[in-house]
Formats: sequence, C-alpha cells, structure tokens
Amino acid sequence: MSHVGSNTIDAALQRRLIEAVAATMIGHAEELTGLDQAIGDGDHGLNMKRGFEAIMVDIDGLAAKPLPEALRAIGTQLVMKVGGASGPLYGTLFITLGKELPAEPGPADTARALGAAIAAVMARGKSQPGQKTMLDVLAPIHAELLAGGDDLTTRIKARAADAADATVPMKALRGRASFLGDRSVGHMDPGARSSSLMIAAVCDVLGG
Ligand code: ADP
Ligand code: MG
Repeated sequence: MSHVGSNTIDAALQRRLIEAVAATMIGHAEELTGLDQAIGDGDHGLNMKRGFEAIMVDIDGLAAKPLPEALRAIGTQLVMKVGGASGPLYGTLFITLGKELPAEPGPADTARALGAAIAAVMARGKSQPGQKTMLDVLAPIHAELLAGGDDLTTRIKARAADAADATVPMKALRGRASFLGDRSVGHMDPGARSSSLMIAAVCDVLGG
C-alpha cells in the first residue's frame, strides 16, 4: 500500500521520513563527495551530511511540528548548513514544499506543491531540466507523480534512479561542473544522485 499523498502523515511517520532521508544523506556522503570530486569541488557529500546532521539534532521538534512547518524548518536548516550551490537550492525546494502543502495533503496537493517547489528551484538556480543538475531528477519524478496510478512509490523510485543515471552522458550547463564543458560528460551529477537518494528513502518509507 502506498501513502503517497494520503492524509496519514502523523508524527511517527514524519519522524521515520526525516530519519530515513537524513540517514541516506549521511551514509552516502563519501559517494556524493566522490561524484563531486570528478566534476566539481568535492564537497557535495560533506555539505549534505552537515545539513542533515544539523536536522537530526532537533528530530524530536521536527517530528512534532505540522508537516508544512517541519518542511520549512528543514529547508531553513539546509540553507544555513549545507552551503555551496545545493544548500540554497535544496533549501528553496523544502521551504516551498512547506509553503504549498496543506497539513494533510492529498495526491493532487503533493503533485501541485512539488511542481511549485521545482519552479522555485529553477528560478533560484536560473536553471531548467536538461542542464545536468538535480532538476534532471526532480522534474521526471514530478511527471511520474502527476501520472498517478498503481505502484507509485516503486515507479517514482525507479524513475529517480534512471534519471540520475541519465545525467552521466549529459554536458553540464549550470553550476561548477559547467566550468568543465565537455569534460563533464561521462560522470553522474552529484545533485542528481543526492535527489535520487532522498526520493528513494521517502519512497521506501511510504511504500514499505
Ligand atoms: P557547489 O557546486 O557550490 O560546490 P554542491 O557541490 O553542494 O555545491 O552541489 C552541486 C550540485 O548542485 C550539482 O551537482 C547540481 O546538481 C546542483 N546545482 C548547481 N547549480 C545548480 C543550478 N543553477 N540549478 C540547479 N542545480 C544546481
Ligand atoms: Mg561542490
């Protein structure tokens, strides 16, 4: 059974979601740093780890807040603690989700809020899908969410993984990796990978 967009996110589930995303980011810090060493400055894993460790310090408080407030608080922590390009962008994503989602979102609310959050990231990053960034994962999973239907969490997780893989042959047109030009081809985008990992963690909790 899937909880995606259903009105059942209580404090216990909210805690499991935050813990799962944080554990994934902290556990994959070395991998993300390795990806960023290839086409950036090698800090993405450490950046995300620092942000989610700060989030885990107040896990009790975050679990107890209504969902929109918790998302805004998480976004604010990411802006303050992650740094780099990805901190403000992930911060914008979570803060906008918090602004757009009602306390008890249904499927349509979730799809609409994610669309607004992606648009906010695009505005902040002056970027769009196709430029080898986190948007190349976020946009496809939004499309999958809009499509709806059966086995949504399984499909979204698979779509996120495929979308991150699909950044390998792309040429970076935004962020530090764009400084490499053609030499950015042949490596997975670190932010696409971190997005895919976060989405997989959420899907595992909601679909499990
Ligand atoms: P920095 O590049 O400042 O070191 P990070 O290493 O933490 O920051 O994050 C890099 C990731 O941020 C990239 O892999 C990419 O996915 C994402 N990113 C960078 N610039 C943009 C942008 N303008 N729009 C969307 N995503 C971006
Ligand atoms: Mg970096």
